[in-house]
Amino acid sequence: MTDKRTKIIQAEIGDDPAYGAVNPPLYLSSTYRFKSIDEKGPFDYGRTSNPNRHGLGRAVADLEGGAHGVVTATGMAAIDLVLNLFKADELILAPHDCYGGTHRLLTHRAEQGRLRVLFIDQNDAAAVSAALAQKPSLVIIETPSNPLMRLVDIKSLCAASKKVGALTMVDNTFLSPARQQPLALGADFVMHSTTKYLNGHSDVIGGVVVAKTAEHGERLAWWANCVGITGAPFDSYLTLRGMRTLFARMDVQEANAMAIAKFLHKHKKVERVYYPGLKSDPGYKLAKKQQSGPGAMLSFEVKGGFEQTKTVLEAVKLFQMAPSLGGVESLMCFPTTMTHGGMAPEARELAGIKDTLIRISVGLEAAEDLIEDLSASLSLI
Ligand SMILES: *Cc1c(COP(=O)(O)O)cnc(C)c1O
Repeated sequence: MTDKRTKIIQAEIGDDPAYGAVNPPLYLSSTYRFKSIDEKGPFDYGRTSNPNRHGLGRAVADLEGGAHGVVTATGMAAIDLVLNLFKADELILAPHDCYGGTHRLLTHRAEQGRLRVLFIDQNDAAAVSAALAQKPSLVIIETPSNPLMRLVDIKSLCAASKKVGALTMVDNTFLSPARQQPLALGADFVMHSTTKYLNGHSDVIGGVVVAKTAEHGERLAWWANCVGITGAPFDSYLTLRGMRTLFARMDVQEANAMAIAKFLHKHKKVERVYYPGLKSDPGYKLAKKQQSGPGAMLSFEVKGGFEQTKTVLEAVKLFQMAPSLGGVESLMCFPTTMTHGGMAPEARELAGIKDTLIRISVGLEAAEDLIEDLSASLSLI
């Protein structure tokens, strides 16, 4: 088996039948000529299929070890695509501290009577078995969680879900296939906001769902075309281009994150650091087991209150104060008003997201520069 690092460089390379272009050309055409009245080529209409989107789906499926990848316009569309497989009376289990947009989507779909949803703490064994006893049809797993980097044991939750007949979907956005392989751990679907690590350059909004089986893959592709949420060709082109450096980016960003986590951990103005690469982190052991590295996302609580937190966030110079993650540049965000602003304050509190919490997406800058910037900002409080 060729290493995944080689596979992603080779993906779609040198296949151009027209001119022998090494890099896959961009196909913007919305429609494709039929060969005869009843014979079409591999592509017919751009919503249904497109060479760039197709190539990206295949490349991600290959990295995740799945049968088929369906590329969507956004990460949210990828999650919503999977929800199409279920009927209104079927129950969906989701983590109570999932991505704010996922929480909002599920909550509002449930309010409209389109599905039933139960949010639980997936690390509370009693809550998990009580919820599984209600025979859910889908269990959504997000690990590490956003923004508190809590880990869920994918293998054991997938096995327990399977026992009650539930399908499982893992949101692998925070680690990418370079660090976590949910399908190999028993999941049926893995999805990404490709906006984040897969594209890696903060210039595309996109999503993808990879199904373990061809049958599920076909159903997803059917729904994506039916609803019309397939991704754009140029976005797919850029995302595949970005993915070629995924492993190299992740190696450096992860090393930077480790250096920053250690610095923050020792800092007297920092209350707590959430990073599964630290021995003191509750997720450390599980991360060693199910991930091939701790990744490049971390969060920390500032000592003091909202004012001190605001000071740090507004003082940093190298970190851009912005939501999103996974790009080459370092970002710092305030989950309360940014990523988790769509969540009700009570839901946020229940999930443990405090007003002193800062989340960092560590980029490719020199670690020493990032640490110096953090050090200067923390010295102001
Ligand atoms: C960003 C994100 C999403 C949503 O993706 P979009 O591309 O913004 O629609 C879903 N899950 C996680 C974990 C995310 O970080």
